[in-house]
Amino acid sequence: MSRSILISGASIAGPTLASWLSRAGWEVTVVERFDHVREQGQNIDVRGVGRQVIRRMGLEDAVRAAHTGETGTEFVDEHGRAVATFAGGTDDTSGGTAELEILRGQFAKILYEHSKDGAEYVFGDQITALHDDGSGVDVEFQRGSRRRFDAVVLAEGLRSRSRALIMPDARIHELGLYNAFLAIPRTGDDTDRWRVLPCGRGRMLSLRPDNLGTTQASLSFISDVRGLDRLGHDDVAAVLRATFADVGWVAPRVLAELDNGSLYFEDIGQAKLGTWSRGRIALLGDAAHCASPVSGMGTTLALAGAYVLAGELAGHDDPRDAFARYEQVLRPLVTKAQQLPPGAPRIAHPRSRLQLAAFRTAVRVAASPLLGRVSGLAGKYMTPPAEAITLPEYPIPAAAA
Ligand SMILES: Cc1cc2nc3c(=O)[nH]c(=O)nc-3n(C[C@H](O)[C@H](O)[C@H](O)COP(=O)(O)OP(=O)(O)OC[C@H]3O[C@@H](n4cnc5c(N)ncnc54)[C@H](O)[C@@H]3O)c2cc1C
Repeated sequence: MSRSILISGASIAGPTLASWLSRAGWEVTVVERFDHVREQGQNIDVRGVGRQVIRRMGLEDAVRAAHTGETGTEFVDEHGRAVATFAGGTDDTSGGTAELEILRGQFAKILYEHSKDGAEYVFGDQITALHDDGSGVDVEFQRGSRRRFDAVVLAEGLRSRSRALIMPDARIHELGLYNAFLAIPRTGDDTDRWRVLPCGRGRMLSLRPDNLGTTQASLSFISDVRGLDRLGHDDVAAVLRATFADVGWVAPRVLAELDNGSLYFEDIGQAKLGTWSRGRIALLGDAAHCASPVSGMGTTLALAGAYVLAGELAGHDDPRDAFARYEQVLRPLVTKAQQLPPGAPRIAHPRSRLQLAAFRTAVRVAASPLLGRVSGLAGKYMTPPAEAITLPEYPIPAAAA
């Protein structure tokens, strides 16, 4: 008899798990709070074991076809002049710009399309209650239905609400950094590099190319005040306008586009939890172990975690045994990913003129072919530990792309 699972969250981790488990013969239901697959988000990197998972799913060509076109990373001054330039990665793992970069929304869409025939997707609904009686989980939904599943997986991102139903004490480790992402019209001055301006006073502005004919802008800043991410759009836009008002280069152009509908604003943090499951309910992706965009590893962890969780669920009769094994296999990778490079994220958001000058000297050294290698700076800051574990082989049939 096939077993049933509810997955909450249809971004990266959820649909990847849905794809693998449906091929292992499970009855899969995915519930997503929004009424569609969300398209926001910027360039995400798929590295190391994450690359291996999409390869095993037969999706590497589809992801490559949606490449953003970014060829490298460049730190610039307030006039947009290059201070230091780094070529993009040429292998599965290295580079500030990874070899495989894709817009988050396009990747979520690819994973949804890939998994939707094997799973029931329910959009515009969410879990309101979970009752685990030891042999199954009764789930209540906001739209009023009540259903029973053999297991439940919460893949709802860093600030997962349903997680609080099973782990009310779970705390986010805040990094003191806010990040705004938005798409702006592309101009002839934009290049195919990720151009980054540390602006002083704990702020950073960057532009990245995309494959949509627009440019992806990001505004980030250090702040001791928490909760700005819970403000409404107009208040967030006002905070960003005030914070970046005196910044040169393309700041006026970016601020002029804050109301164009693409703004995504988040308080950056990490989820560091003692366990990733309670009974028949488990956490997956950022909900379990968000390492933050600063790590460059969020998507890779989500893909690897979904693959391992599916393999272990398929191989164990009791989901609780599978959850224990999933955590055992994945923990070493997560622990490494959550150890951010020394001083990150503050080091790339210098406050004083002195810190800014020191940062520029450090990136110049890192970008120099000889000094960069000798100092080890480029490797330390631009090569995440995406190959820190060996993925197990599981007997789940590989999918056609
Ligand atoms: C809109 C958006 C934009 C992002 N932009 C970037 C970016 O530019 N750069 C970057 O590095 N990372 C970004 N991320 C984070 C990145 O996608 C993740 O770090 C990583 O890919 C792990 O994905 P995940 O599937 O675990 O979680 P997430 O990608 O966070 O997805 C969680 C999903 O669960 C859904 N959800 C949340 N709560 C509930 C609920 N109660 N019930 C049902 N569904 C729920 C969300 O709508 C979302 O679809 C973004 C995430 C989102 C959702």
